[in-house]
Amino acid sequence: MTRAVSIVEPILNANDQLAEINRSFFDRAGTFALNVMASPGAGKTSLILETIEALKDTYRIGVVNGDVAPLDAEKVAAKDIFAANINTGGSCHLDARMVNRALPDIPLDEIDLLIIENVGNLICPAGFSLGTHRSVLVASIPEGDDKPYKYPKMYRGVDVLVVNKIDLLPYVPFDLKYFQEGVRILNPDLKAFRVSCVTQEGLDGWFEWLENELAAHRAAALEGVAP
Ligand code: MG
Ligand code: ZN
Repeated sequence: MTRAVSIVEPILNANDQLAEINRSFFDRAGTFALNVMASPGAGKTSLILETIEALKDTYRIGVVNGDVAPLDAEKVAAKDIFAANINTGGSCHLDARMVNRALPDIPLDEIDLLIIENVGNLICPAGFSLGTHRSVLVASIPEGDDKPYKYPKMYRGVDVLVVNKIDLLPYVPFDLKYFQEGVRILNPDLKAFRVSCVTQEGLDGWFEWLENELAAHRAAALEGVAP
């Protein structure tokens, strides 16, 4: 008799195994790690720079930039915090192995919040966990309102959505209801913020969310609960 075999235990692929190792490094150092994903030009670096400005007096921040050119890492380094560039060698996403190889060069013990800026791409970064505690997707108004429908895996897999360039809404055809409906179908409980890194509109909500996550992470670590 043959029987259908159901695999109950998730089998971790090699990337996920390395991601777990990365996570254990972050946890041992008490570092909260954030994976920032977006299409090119959505405003990852702008959001990161704003976040540094808002939180750098409260938290020790480090940024790892996985872009093909080190330009963004230089902008972050100009803020006088730890910044490093992971050369992806032309690859269109970061994976756990690349982050793992960079770990010896990152002073995790001196970093409360490690922001990892992924490569600008809405497809494969969604398929490679890095070991971060949370992942954020930065969308933007000029990209168009159909992105949740075109890149469902990305929208399904993230913890929080930041819709940037909201100041351009009067000038760009973008049906906010259509966009939000797509997001709701894919990720009903997704926390979302509408912001503009130019006018600063809505950024406080994002900072508050991040600070709450950092505080919850710290509290869980103190209680010895796996964050
Ligand atoms: Mg960037
Ligand atoms: Zn890729």
